Amino acid sequence: MKTQTKLSQDNLTPKDALSILVKGNQRFIQNLKLQRNVIEQVLETSSGQYPFAVIHSCIDSRVPVELVFDQGFGDVFSTRVAGNIINEDVLGSMEYGCKVAGAKIVVVMAHTKCGAVTAACNHVELGNVTALLEKIKPSVAKVQPSSDVMNESEIERVAILNVEHSIQRIKSESKILNDMEEMGEIKIVGAVYSVETGGVDFL
Ligand SMILES: [Zn+2]
Repeated sequence: MKTQTKLSQDNLTPKDALSILVKGNQRFIQNLKLQRNVIEQVLETSSGQYPFAVIHSCIDSRVPVELVFDQGFGDVFSTRVAGNIINEDVLGSMEYGCKVAGAKIVVVMAHTKCGAVTAACNHVELGNVTALLEKIKPSVAKVQPSSDVMNESEIERVAILNVEHSIQRIKSESKILNDMEEMGEIKIVGAVYSVETGGVDFL
């Protein structure tokens, strides 16, 4: 498997980029991998990088982005922060990835059984975690719990709303990314990774 070049990246549409990720995850759940000589890829990418995607996901140790999409060196920009929340630095990283470095898709990917989302639903307060969880709270407020404590399916609903909220923030707070999407230069999509099956559902 060859690394992305300027030419191969230029020739991809946002739809192609999504299709690469869908197919990569299909290989992953079937325990299939494209053959990659990783040391060769290190050398090939040493002079430059032409990733096709920016994937924004949680820090969770069960969601290693390159593995779950069967991607190699130089394929994806990976921004990760607990609860896949958005802040100015994440937006700056995404803008760099798309506008400067040519990525064709931005994926905001939550996952099932997310500790950060669960903590936000349970109104946990701890050091700097408190301010991070505040960014998930708008999505918590949209779900009416059936009892005092949210159940698992209510928490999963919050995780999906939180992806939608992150995407709304990208579009409203990054004119660069919003304009690129309106021009058809990139797609901005949501996804949820299942820690139970390894599958990714695009929303
Ligand atoms: Zn998480």
